[in-house]
Amino acid sequence: MNDPLKILQRTFGYDSFRPTQKDVIDSILEGNDTLAIMPTGGGKSLCYQLPALMFDGLTIVVSPLISLMQDQVRQLKAAGVNAVVMNSTLTPQEYEENRYQVLSGDAKLVYLAPETLLQPRTLELLALTDVSCLTIDEAHCISQWGHDFRPEYRQLADVRGRFPNAVCVALTATATPRVREDIAQSLDMAQNAQFVASFDRPNLFLKAQPKDTAFNQLLAFINQVEGDSGIVYCSTRKTTESVAQKLEKRGFRVRAYHAGLSTDQRQKNQDMFIRDDLDIIVATVAFGMGIDKPDVRWVVRYDMPQSIESFYQEVGRAGRDGLPAECLLLYGGQDLSTIEFHISQKSQSEQRVARQQLNHMRAFAETHGCRRRPLLAYFGEETAEEGCGHCDNCLDPPEVVDLTEQAQKLLSCIYRTGQRFGLNHVIDVLRGSTAERIVRNGHDKVSTHGIGKDWDAQLWRALGRQLLQAGLVKQDGQYGGYSLTADAGAVLKGEKTFEGRMPKPKQSKSKRRRQKQVADLSPQEAELFELLRAKRKELADDKGVPPYVVFSDRTLREICQQLPQDLSAFSQIHGVGAKKLSTYGELFIDVVQSHRA
Ligand code: ADP
Ligand code: ZN
Repeated sequence: MNDPLKILQRTFGYDSFRPTQKDVIDSILEGNDTLAIMPTGGGKSLCYQLPALMFDGLTIVVSPLISLMQDQVRQLKAAGVNAVVMNSTLTPQEYEENRYQVLSGDAKLVYLAPETLLQPRTLELLALTDVSCLTIDEAHCISQWGHDFRPEYRQLADVRGRFPNAVCVALTATATPRVREDIAQSLDMAQNAQFVASFDRPNLFLKAQPKDTAFNQLLAFINQVEGDSGIVYCSTRKTTESVAQKLEKRGFRVRAYHAGLSTDQRQKNQDMFIRDDLDIIVATVAFGMGIDKPDVRWVVRYDMPQSIESFYQEVGRAGRDGLPAECLLLYGGQDLSTIEFHISQKSQSEQRVARQQLNHMRAFAETHGCRRRPLLAYFGEETAEEGCGHCDNCLDPPEVVDLTEQAQKLLSCIYRTGQRFGLNHVIDVLRGSTAERIVRNGHDKVSTHGIGKDWDAQLWRALGRQLLQAGLVKQDGQYGGYSLTADAGAVLKGEKTFEGRMPKPKQSKSKRRRQKQVADLSPQEAELFELLRAKRKELADDKGVPPYVVFSDRTLREICQQLPQDLSAFSQIHGVGAKKLSTYGELFIDVVQSHRA
């Protein structure tokens, strides 16, 4: 069989290639050294797995993380492809078995950690083997200019020299032009064909909200996506723990994940999430590099990330399977001052880069226009003038109104109370509070006391955040007090107007549901979906693999909609290749038929 499309359909059960996949595969099959840059979830693995099935010899895949390798091998085996791993976790027997598979030519792919590849015994083994392709996954690790430099990767250059006839493939989700250059050079990529896929992931619905009561905002969001797998990313361990605890108290199936937990505990929590024994994982950035779970349906970033790059990596873990997924950024409050503090600890030149990064991130968070514009602009891509139609601002454009009078009240109250109190204190004064701490400071006597009763505290806070964003006030990094900037004067004197957004009244339940997911199923379909899901879980647990290795959500959804009655109809479903058809076809058709009966 030498038609890539046929192999795609027969082995992987997919109808067609994604853009860029085909170009990359053709280039590899023509024997060109190839560098592919595709976003997380873009479908990189297939780019080298498919040619591996067509080459006579072995494909070596270098990957930095053991859990990732194991996951890939599990998925390949489930599709009937013989692939093996070699790393430090194997028992001597397993090692021997896998070594035999490689020597005999039975294994088409071998996954290796870089340090395993560099061991003399591995190099000796590979010298006895016909190597057709050397693939370097997460190739940015080779570059000192990348964000995840790994010294072992540097030595891959020597290994490349040992297999001069093998085609070399490097893949990564993030590479600036400088890193790209570095990868191509280090690996001595001869013809060096480069392909850069679009970083747009149209199935990701993007939204951002200024923080008001962050945890309640999170809860409101989770209530809309309940039962679906999701990740909450937090900047610190402490927040991670406390958010996980609060969610658990409310009855969610949730665990935390951060570097403060023991390796065992971390592994356990990750496994539970991957096996659908948890719906939610609350994690620091430590979580995610090692997981390929394709059916994560939502990601919430609980505070402002330091760069678009890290933000997109994190939210990019949602919806790898191409089904709709939601990404929410909560930002503001103390976030900016915390990041500013971290930046100030860096060297001069690092500070400049970090500030630029932060500005890009703020542009994403604070834009009134389409969110994809600042996001894709960061990756050097242009976007349509009219917007994507698939982010919060496109769907529900914010209305901008004249808020000069209210802004004057707030600015003047900040001024009258001495420019050293937090926003909540100032708002209490505006709203006429006679709490002890207001009276103690004499703030019940200032002229702005009680002039803001027309608005509730939430509206005033929203205005305060906008004044901060507009640079009319600033917040003290250490104590959080608000003070006026030079620009505030013009607005206070009425020489300039201030235009801003009013928070929308809360949406009714029905409108929210409609927005949730386009792919929403009918009640009957949803009922069948749950039955199929239970079957999948049972089979997966029997085999000790994650449910998505059996079938993806997309496959289950298609079964619900097409109700296949025989194996031939079942083989047409997305993600069903020959091997899965024979292993699982009958079992799932039975579920469909018993549901109908
Ligand atoms: P990446 O490594 O780029 O983050 P993966 O290789 O893990 O992405 O692929 C993401 C998901 O997309 C996987 O679940 C994979 O099965 C699926 N996928 C890849 N290529 C295709 C395709 N041509 N059609 C349908 N699904 C695909
Ligand atoms: Zn948009």
